[in-house]
Amino acid sequence: MKRILVTGGAGFIGSHLCERLLEEGNEVLCLDNYFTGSKTNIAHLLENPYFELIRHDVTTPYYVEVDEIYNLACPASPIHYQYNPIKTVKTSVMGAINMLGLAKRIKSKVLQASTSEVYGDPTVHPQPESYWGNVNPIGIRSCYDEGKRCAETLFIDYHKQNQVRIKIIRIFNTYGPKMHPNDGRVVSNFIVQALQNQPISIYGDGSQTRSFQYVDDHLEGMIRMMQTGDQITGPVNLGNPVEFTILELAKKIIALTGSKSEISFLPLPQDDPIHRRPDISLAKEMLDGWSPKVELEAGLEKTITYFDQLLNS
Ligand code: NAD
Ligand code: UDP
Ligand code: UDP
Repeated sequence: MKRILVTGGAGFIGSHLCERLLEEGNEVLCLDNYFTGSKTNIAHLLENPYFELIRHDVTTPYYVEVDEIYNLACPASPIHYQYNPIKTVKTSVMGAINMLGLAKRIKSKVLQASTSEVYGDPTVHPQPESYWGNVNPIGIRSCYDEGKRCAETLFIDYHKQNQVRIKIIRIFNTYGPKMHPNDGRVVSNFIVQALQNQPISIYGDGSQTRSFQYVDDHLEGMIRMMQTGDQITGPVNLGNPVEFTILELAKKIIALTGSKSEISFLPLPQDDPIHRRPDISLAKEMLDGWSPKVELEAGLEKTITYFDQLLNS
């Protein structure tokens, strides 16, 4: 039995990860400050004697003895990370330093949840890990993009300088049950709007693209990455390489929910990436043939069922 720390464990991805790690017979410590996460996401785990909940902010030091650390703590949706941009940078950078300091002291593995946002508004398509990105350092997305980029730098330097056993994954748009209904991300927004027959809010003309990964596929890749040998550090992309326009996504969600919603077009936010699609060749090679299995419609159906129940409860 391993003892595993999950920071941001009460969030969308973190709560799924805690559940899965417990199912696999591990002891799980879930650390969160509940900025965007919620106790509801992990309430069903509280009776498990191998699950422990810790209210803590990763920007302050934390001392514990564990075998592995998944560092997921950080608001992920644009409205939440832009709410207090200075705090977003502190969470990424100071959080990384503290979790790396912890991993260094206890000689544990530590995995960083980085993001496709490190590529900014990419000029290379699809995006391989070797691409350095096109990021505005002083725009509204910078607190998140540059915070995550600096965290990657810290991970690599702690590895080189202090031999810390690091893993970096670059997560592309991931969706599924337990996303926050008001967190402003496109999949949750469109589903909630469609279920309530409200206008579907497309920013811009909807021709921008994203590639959507279902959370179960993501968990499989992330856990396989943690299990790799110490010579494998990443960064490695984890995402679904099938690309859709935002207009296509809106139409799919309207059809799947049988909604009467109309589409409304609103201004495109500053620095919104035009295209995004992962090159997952490296992940396939390093993670034992890993690739996403859940097609968009199947994943959307499960997510729609979740939000339908949530809105009716
Ligand atoms: P989320 O907002 O649901 O989860 C983040 C969690 O971190 C929340 O529970 C929040 O309360 C917690 N948190 C935030 N600041 C904290 C702090 N200072 N100290 C302790 N806890 C803190 O988002 P998510 O989608 O589950 O994302 C998880 C991680 O994956 C994030 O690091 C995010 O940047 C990364 N990621 C997610 C996606 C995606 O599409 N979901 C894409 C790329 C990267
Ligand atoms: N740290 C932590 N838990 C630990 C060990 C370290 O939170 O178990 C923090 C520590 O407070 C420091 C950071 O991690 O702020 C970086 O640690 P490191 O040892 O690299 O730096 P130093 O302590 O030398 O500044
Ligand atoms: N988007 C949209 N309507 C919404 C929310 C988002 O059209 O209600 C667009 C957004 O402008 C972006 C894409 O959908 O082009 C994905 O947005 P999200 O915030 O989910 O993730 P990110 O921009 O970080 O990929």
